[in-house]
Amino acid sequence: MLPPETSIEKLPRISNYFTSRFKKIGIKTIYDLLRHFPTRYQDFSEVYKIADLIPNQEATIQGMVKKIKSRTAWRRRNMRITEAKIEDDSGEIEIIWFNQSYVQSQLAEGKQVSISGKITALGEKLQMKNPTFELLHDWTTKTRHTAKIVAKYPETKGMTSKGIRHFIDLALEQIKQVPDPIPEEICSKYSFPEINTAIKNIHTPENIEDAEHAKKRFTFEDLFYLQLFNIEQKQELAKKNAPKIKISPKEIKELLSTLPFELTLTQKKSLWEIAQDIEKSHPMNRLLQGDVGSGKTIITAVIAILAAQKGFQSALMAPTEILARQHYKTFAKFFPEFESGVCLLTASQSRASYGKDLEDELKKKDAIEKIKRGEIKIIIGTHALIQKGIEFKNLALVTVDEQHRFGVDQRAELVRSTNIVPHFLSMSATPIPRTLSLTLWGDLDLSLISELPKNRKPIITRVVDKKKRVEAYDFIRDQIKKGRQAFVVCPRIEPNEETEKEIPKGTQIWMQEFQKLAVKSVKEEFEKLSQKIFPDLKVAMLHGKLKEKEKEEIMRNFSEGETDILVSTSVVEVGVDVPNAAIMMIEGSERFGLAQLYQFRGRVGRGEHQSFCLLFTESTSQSTADRLKSIEKAKNGLELAEYDLKLRGPGEFLGEIQTGMPDLAMKALQNPNLVKEAREEAKQILSQDPALKNYPLLKKHLKELQAQIHWE
Ligand code: ADP
Ligand code: MG
Repeated sequence: MLPPETSIEKLPRISNYFTSRFKKIGIKTIYDLLRHFPTRYQDFSEVYKIADLIPNQEATIQGMVKKIKSRTAWRRRNMRITEAKIEDDSGEIEIIWFNQSYVQSQLAEGKQVSISGKITALGEKLQMKNPTFELLHDWTTKTRHTAKIVAKYPETKGMTSKGIRHFIDLALEQIKQVPDPIPEEICSKYSFPEINTAIKNIHTPENIEDAEHAKKRFTFEDLFYLQLFNIEQKQELAKKNAPKIKISPKEIKELLSTLPFELTLTQKKSLWEIAQDIEKSHPMNRLLQGDVGSGKTIITAVIAILAAQKGFQSALMAPTEILARQHYKTFAKFFPEFESGVCLLTASQSRASYGKDLEDELKKKDAIEKIKRGEIKIIIGTHALIQKGIEFKNLALVTVDEQHRFGVDQRAELVRSTNIVPHFLSMSATPIPRTLSLTLWGDLDLSLISELPKNRKPIITRVVDKKKRVEAYDFIRDQIKKGRQAFVVCPRIEPNEETEKEIPKGTQIWMQEFQKLAVKSVKEEFEKLSQKIFPDLKVAMLHGKLKEKEKEEIMRNFSEGETDILVSTSVVEVGVDVPNAAIMMIEGSERFGLAQLYQFRGRVGRGEHQSFCLLFTESTSQSTADRLKSIEKAKNGLELAEYDLKLRGPGEFLGEIQTGMPDLAMKALQNPNLVKEAREEAKQILSQDPALKNYPLLKKHLKELQAQIHWE
């Protein structure tokens, strides 16, 4: 028997090919493999007589191979078709496999075989296409892939569920008993199976209920760690001290009166919540959530300026240099008189911007010296720049854009003190419904900006009919002639990338081909637009596989108006502000979550120009049409997010938004009760045993989660 942490290479007869495949999806140990859970099950447990089969049912048959042969398809030369006739004592049925020539080498005539799959009708005749099969050496053979409840795994390139099941079986046979991290009292209170039973039942269930119970148990486990983490962070912070920054309503009012606009009601409310937090001697841990363009930056700017006037330093960290520059411009625009010094640190220049009119430049070295002496009060830059080698005199507030967490340790590091840590504000435009943010970021308090400033023109949003594509291009050209710019967003980078993963096995071949064609890729679209449609315009391409430097440059060119059209993947989603961009065209829009589409749309409509969002889709399904229609009408990202969450479930909803959270925890949101229970149990345990001294396994898992979360 092998201990759970044994490397998967030690499994009998596992090839390098499979170990490397597994490693690619993060499976290194036998235990990791057993924590690779099925996404669904197929109930093939009932074995039917061939004569009793009816179309569209999922069934298992067992019989003898009467005939088998392979040939090349008539119409498509690169496709091999394997046809077999299977016979039992009631009748016979035809089976077809596409491009699976190995089938013939395994299923010789005369062999006994067990086959599971969907029954389809071809006129009067019944057929099975691409079913799963296994040989029966005699009628007592224990089946694994057929004639029972069969687990389906998330498939990746080169690894089928069948292959994964094979290694799971080996792991189940070889692994020693695993100690259960969940305390026994909790398991029995909620009737969760203990961990070894649960592992067995999630992979090879006797019945669906057992599988469900096991799944629930693991979901609970993930949520439980997350809640332990949240509560622990809160407790940890409550023990720390933070600089008390006392800001009076009068001071806020005075500063606000210098702005050219009036804050919205929820902006004011958020501002006040923050002001009250930082007055306390314990560090603030707050999430400021508000739609794109709702005006979050100005909130932290006001606080930072007022804090600076009292001698405190603030740091504003952005995920990219472009965004850092943008924030800096906000300060420059609204607080030109500010004399206590704002500086922008950038990696591409060895200089920092600084000074009364915020345009003087000084050597980075001098800037760093001034920060150390406390002469510069507000420091803006990317995370990397600020975290690396800057010493502050009295850093009191850290604001981070689009990154939810900033751990106690990270904060302590910035100020090189383990006892005093700065206040923390996270700004996010991701419309995350309350239930979800409570689960994922339960350690943060929440301020919400729920309306947009009044001066905004609503963005005209249309789902565009396929037939009107040419007109849409004409329209874009027209807008560009008027001086505007456009985004074109596509769902993927390379043509045909990852199709295997996305299209369910057994989908008819022509359907697969069709779907492949239908998904637009950035590279293809870029070629098409730059060469055929808009050869006279400046078209650029942006995607995540480019180097950071290239991305920055492409974005800079676009924001400075050097390029007209930017063809991009979802990387444009995060915070870029190009007021001159007035068109957002989205290809394959059914592929994105509503929240994401909403974010894309928020990239336009930021200036004085009327803006447009054009949604294209190749899908003809009514539900897609309805979903996209909801964007046409949507006024508020949060409402939309809640709608989408209900419609598609959390995993889908979050789409490509990186959360670093276990996928299962997301799924669990469909079960808010479990969240509540996990939170209660976590509270209970930490109140009795804050250091988890009696729960070494829990502590170990918590540490692992911490490491994972701080990686975000
Ligand atoms: P986001 O919340 O997306 O980060 P920004 O802070 O970039 O939004 O604000 C978007 C724009 O709206 C900025 O140009 C900002 O100056 C402006 N703005 C912020 N608050 C208001 C307001 N209350 N009225 C009018 N314009 C505002
Ligand atoms: Mg912003």
